[in-house]
Amino acid sequence: MTDKKPLKQDAVSVLHSGRQDNQRSETDSLNLDDVKSRCLTTVNISELLPQGIRIIDIHNNVIYINQAFSVLAGCSPEQLVGKKCYQNFPGSYCHSPTCILERMKNGEKAVQAEINWDEDSNRRTYVLSALPLNTEDGTLFGIIEYFLDVTDTRKLEQKAAQNEVLYSELFNNVPVPIIEYDFSLVKKHYDKLRSQGVTNFRKHFYKTAPQELLKCESLLRPVRLNKHAAHFFGLDSPEEHKHDMEKRHNRNLHKNEGPKECHIGLAEGKTQFDYEAYVEIKDGDYRYLFTSVSVAPGCEESLAIVYLSFVDITDRKKSEELMKKHQSELKRKVAERTAQLKESREKIKELYIIECSTRKELERLMKQRVEFNRMLVHELKTPLVPILGTISILSREIEAEPTRSMLENIQGGAIALSHRIDELLDLEKADSGSLHLDLELVDIAELLRRLHDYVKPQLSEKEQTISLTVTHDLPFIMGDKERLSQVILNLINNSYKYSPYGSHILVKAARQGSDIIVEIQDDGPGIPEEKRAELFKPNYAVSSNTDLRNGLGIGLALCNKLIGLHKGRIWLDSSTNQGSIFRISIPTYREAARNEIIDSRR
Ligand code: ADP
Repeated sequence: MTDKKPLKQDAVSVLHSGRQDNQRSETDSLNLDDVKSRCLTTVNISELLPQGIRIIDIHNNVIYINQAFSVLAGCSPEQLVGKKCYQNFPGSYCHSPTCILERMKNGEKAVQAEINWDEDSNRRTYVLSALPLNTEDGTLFGIIEYFLDVTDTRKLEQKAAQNEVLYSELFNNVPVPIIEYDFSLVKKHYDKLRSQGVTNFRKHFYKTAPQELLKCESLLRPVRLNKHAAHFFGLDSPEEHKHDMEKRHNRNLHKNEGPKECHIGLAEGKTQFDYEAYVEIKDGDYRYLFTSVSVAPGCEESLAIVYLSFVDITDRKKSEELMKKHQSELKRKVAERTAQLKESREKIKELYIIECSTRKELERLMKQRVEFNRMLVHELKTPLVPILGTISILSREIEAEPTRSMLENIQGGAIALSHRIDELLDLEKADSGSLHLDLELVDIAELLRRLHDYVKPQLSEKEQTISLTVTHDLPFIMGDKERLSQVILNLINNSYKYSPYGSHILVKAARQGSDIIVEIQDDGPGIPEEKRAELFKPNYAVSSNTDLRNGLGIGLALCNKLIGLHKGRIWLDSSTNQGSIFRISIPTYREAARNEIIDSRR
């Protein structure tokens, strides 16, 4: 520890005591008063300075140290002054001051060196600045040394260097492309623009002055880019990156929105923001980039360190675009279909209205027709009643031939006419849906037998025969006896009518599955294949002869309607010159009941 004496006094006394300890022969040239007067001001000031200060005479003798040097050497001035300068420091430094003195003697004006002073295990580092001490005539009489303790600075620098290495390592290995920029010059330019009255930077960069981007980009300085950025942009150095950017901006000022967004954000004073932009990252290679901009802490004012990191979102964007396209296409199609649907609905509505009025008109016409037919039938049948009545009376009175035969002919014709009129009326009723069945359980075998017996005598007129074959287990059917009789008689009558003299008519009935099939077979001319499709339609006659005997084509149409009402079917098997087989199928009672139940459940 140094003694706590007044600094000035202490320094002067130290100067003197140092003088006494030195070899007299060597110091003859040194005028101590001179030294004192020359260095006193320095000494006085040096006591106030934080640096260690030492004065050495021309013979390496320490003639003065200040308080700070005493502290840094860890010795009192008494312990140091008067010693050889190299005895003040331990270790490696020893000869350096000698060298400095030698260099000064050789004419160097100033020497600066960094020295390490190992004190125990504690190393201190000093920056030593030495200046020569000359008399007026320029003779060197000593040197003054300033010791600046830079140990902490060096340690900090070392730490900073280590941190820098660590930072570089981290920066380089961040798994996204990242670039460090210096925006400080650009910041000044933003400020200038603001002072010139620019307040809306977005408008400025996009509309008012798009070329401003070029100016800003020229002031921009990429500092470093990590390996991912280098790979991503296909570049090696920040300089190359800058050159590449400028080239692209010159060529594509309006297209590259990314840099504009960056400048707008920073110019508006944002320190952390991001944006998506379509950017040309290499020549002709455009990508959607999600860019994050981040100003380094402490650089908010200067924008000296700004980081830009990028994520390539091209695939996501493209998928989104595709999705949008699909959605709009879907929307378009839905709109199209909706319009079509609306149109169809309108049309259906129109058609429905037309159909309603047509149906009403049709119903009106049908009613009119039915009414007319009824009146017609009435008008036709009314005169037949007295005719038939009169014939009946006459035939009872007159027995003489040929008058009787003539009467019978008239009677036959009148009855046939009456039947025809009835058929016509039935067909009309069937067409208008007003023909109804009187249903009951019908023993079809019994019905056929009765009809067989009824027609048999009448066939003798054409010397025709009839036979009936019915299987014994024929089930009942649910039907209208009268109407079924009408159908079967009609078919037998046709066979009678169209078959030659002496021919045979065969009536058969058998069960087939859930149906009963009734057949009426004859040896007549048959019906050509091409005519069969129309046969069961009204007013169809195979031959062109349409006199009443040959028929008007009402009978089969009526048969078809009546069998249809029985939920059955009528069809024909026939070939020209080989007779005809008319077949009727009607469901058995059980089947009819079952169908009834099914129908009622629907
Ligand atoms: P119509 O009441 O005039 O007899 P149908 O409807 O009963 O009329 O018969 C239609 C036509 O079918 C007849 O005009 C006739 O030419 C033909 N036809 C009907 N049955 C037979 C049959 N058994 N043999 C030959 N032709 C027949």
